[in-house]
Order: sequence, then structure tokens, then C-alpha cells
Amino acid sequence: MTCLLCERVKLTDQGGYGFLIKEFKHSYLMLGEHQFFKGYSVLVLKEHYREMTDIPSPIREEFFQEMMTSSKAIEEVFKPKKMNMCSLGNVVDHVHWHFFPRYESDPQFFDPPWLRMKEFDGAKITPESAKLTIEKIRSVMK
Ligand SMILES: [Zn+2]
Repeated sequence: MTCLLCERVKLTDQGGYGFLIKEFKHSYLMLGEHQFFKGYSVLVLKEHYREMTDIPSPIREEFFQEMMTSSKAIEEVFKPKKMNMCSLGNVVDHVHWHFFPRYESDPQFFDPPWLRMKEFDGAKITPESAKLTIEKIRSVMK
């Protein structure tokens, strides 16, 4: 069975994925295809590992630094009240981290972001707005 994220990594390697923010040594930071939570992004490990604990050293530690760099940049641009970072992998078991910036204005601030997932499709990002958001995040990641 093909892995959806291995396919996306391959597409990104070939320059064919339009929402790439940054290529790191071990991962790709991609802007979320919906922006229900403004700034929502996903960090995808290039190699297929099922669990964080499966990733050998020093790749795991370096990947952790890539996570921190990604989160910091999104925080700097969007100034959320809180950053929610989640790695679940029940649907696609290829290590990836979701970055959900959460804002003061969110009436469901105390709930996990996934409780709103039925509304995500209504907040699909346009290519123009994705381009602007990607540039903003890139500008703080030297
Ligand atoms: Zn995979």
C-alpha cells in the first residue's frame, strides 16, 4: 500500500508541491491546505518512520531542532496565544507534526483543534493567499 506522505515527499522532491515553506535536512515544512487556524502548517519527515521512537539518532534530534525552528517561525509571524503541536499518525502512520496556532479570539480555545475538523474544508487556502503566507513564514527563517 502506498503511503500518502511518502507520495507527497516524492512530489516535493520533484518540486511539484505548491505549499512548501522550507526544506530542512530531514523534513519538509508545508503550509496547511486549509487555514481554519491561521498559520496551520505541517512538518513531514522525509523518510518513512512510524513512530518518533523508531527514528535513529542523530536524525531524531536533528528533526526535533527542525520542529523547533518551524514552530518558532510560525509563532513569530502569527503571534498565537498558544501553539498546539500534535503528532498522531492514526490515519497516515508516517511521522509528521501539525502546528495549530491558537488565538485568544477562538471561542473553543480550550478544545483540541481536531474537534473542528469538519469545518477545515470550508477554510481551504487559495494559491494567492498561500503564496503570501509562505513568504511571510520564510522571511523569519533565515
Ligand atoms: Zn510514508
